[in-house]
Amino acid sequence: MTYRILVTDDIDAEGVALLAAEPDLAVDEVPTLPRDELMARIGGYDALVGRSATRISPELLRAAPRLAVVGRAGVGVDNIAVDLATELGIAVINAPAGNSVAVAELFFGAVLGLLRHIRHADQSMHDGRWDRSALMGSELKGRTLGIIGLGRIGGEIAVRAHAFAMPVVAYDPYVGDARFHATRTRRAATLDELLGEALVLTVHTPLTDETRGMIGAREMGRLAPGAIIANLARGGIVDERALVDALHRGHLAGAALDVFTTEPLAVDHALRLAPNLMLTPHIGASTVEAQRSVAVDVCRAVRDALLRGELSRSINAASVDGGQGGDVRPALILARQLATVGRALLANRGARAVDRIEVTPGDALSGARDALLAAAALGVLAPVVAHERLNLINARALAAARGIALSATEGAVVPSAGERGAADFALAVRLTSGSQELTLAGVAHPATVAPRITRIGDFDVDIHPRGTLLILTNRDVPGVIGRVGTVLGAAGVNIAEYHQARLAQGGEALAAVAVDGAVGDDVRHALLALPDVHSATVVPLLTE
Ligand code: NAD
Repeated sequence: MTYRILVTDDIDAEGVALLAAEPDLAVDEVPTLPRDELMARIGGYDALVGRSATRISPELLRAAPRLAVVGRAGVGVDNIAVDLATELGIAVINAPAGNSVAVAELFFGAVLGLLRHIRHADQSMHDGRWDRSALMGSELKGRTLGIIGLGRIGGEIAVRAHAFAMPVVAYDPYVGDARFHATRTRRAATLDELLGEALVLTVHTPLTDETRGMIGAREMGRLAPGAIIANLARGGIVDERALVDALHRGHLAGAALDVFTTEPLAVDHALRLAPNLMLTPHIGASTVEAQRSVAVDVCRAVRDALLRGELSRSINAASVDGGQGGDVRPALILARQLATVGRALLANRGARAVDRIEVTPGDALSGARDALLAAAALGVLAPVVAHERLNLINARALAAARGIALSATEGAVVPSAGERGAADFALAVRLTSGSQELTLAGVAHPATVAPRITRIGDFDVDIHPRGTLLILTNRDVPGVIGRVGTVLGAAGVNIAEYHQARLAQGGEALAAVAVDGAVGDDVRHALLALPDVHSATVVPLLTE
């Protein structure tokens, strides 16, 4: 199958070449298209790669039945209707890492420019003056740098600040001590503590409800007189009105803004007249190197999403990272299989729709709860939702829309059958439908050995699910296994594995039978007609 990709907004050639080199990818490169033209063309594409100039609106997504991936060469996805993409099962992939150095370098350029009055010095020379006395500057050395948000960019700034002999302090309650240690940065326990120390304050957080207006008049007032503030992150984290005021009053020695609440910045905005304010038009990532790096990065991720179904880079798919950076895909296959089997068993018992899915991940899967829930939701929904786009991206949203509650619980998952190593992925899935509930558990090996189902309800089993799983309940009496084998053999159904489990001799027993190929309704009825067989559930399974 050939996937068609529309590349727009002048994506760097190195990224485009990476896509074009694949025989199964057909790339059309176009300049930024007017909305109507894009609407007319988008229907023929499986993926779109662009930058911020192309708006990926809800109308555009609805006009794109084939679209599976939207790639953004850069960080911001404000131009993409991400919620609708999620609902439609379209992966949204960005490139958050490639431009950190570019932003970090701009930060030092801006702060050095302010401290050494470079803009005024340059202007005065061009104006014909030789005005040294008015241009006395100050140094970075010994000036405490306060960073809010020690992520990618904050970290790049911290390590470079050491070269300028700046003491570095950061406030970021969401990252662990290891990151502070690695960047040789002292942790400020509170924002106020940071404000009390920083002579250069810089923000590198996303714009969230918590960070919007985070640096306002009160916070500026807590900075020492003569401090400098920089916002190269997102407009609105530093309150613009308070900043203009603090600069006019001379409380701050200067400020640098690359981002604004409303972009482009209005021609007559008060910021344009504020003293000692270095303004740049959102050029943090505008370096040749950064653009190449984000283009290559996003094109590689789009290629892997299309050709290998690799969604770990998708911002709207639940993370499929195990927390230790490992690949948890075998566990996702298992979660989906457990849910598929559970749903089929409940349906066979006459239960109505599943109304709750609960996943209990084992230790090695603690970072993958959301992805496991998505995979389990896939198992429950796949047989009942006629949705060609049902996938790991939208499974949770579709489950929620159907009133299915999703939750992950803590607890020991001990698959009772077989050997299990510490690194193995163990997990349990509990499905509830009205007053009925059923728990299944299993174990998957990280190195993709086929997962095993180890518990179905009260029964310990040990079975590698493949093509079709047949689950029988019967009375534990001699002869049943032989008779089942005869019926299946007569129907030409090959048994790959047969696991018989019972609670007590002569009581209720459960057989999990993995068979190659399909089991028709006639065979199921023949099995149900056997003496002592109480139920027969046929579960076709996907194994990848
Ligand atoms: P990142 O996700 O790597 O780091 C963000 C950090 O902020 C994280 O460590 C997080 O824990 C921390 N954080 C979040 N909320 C916080 C809070 N309330 N208090 C303190 N810390 C908090 O992101 P990044 O790649 O370093 O990007 C940082 C910012 O820079 C983003 O807003 C991004 O959009 C922006 N950016 C701007 C440009 C530009 O052109 N000017 C270019 C790239 C990125």
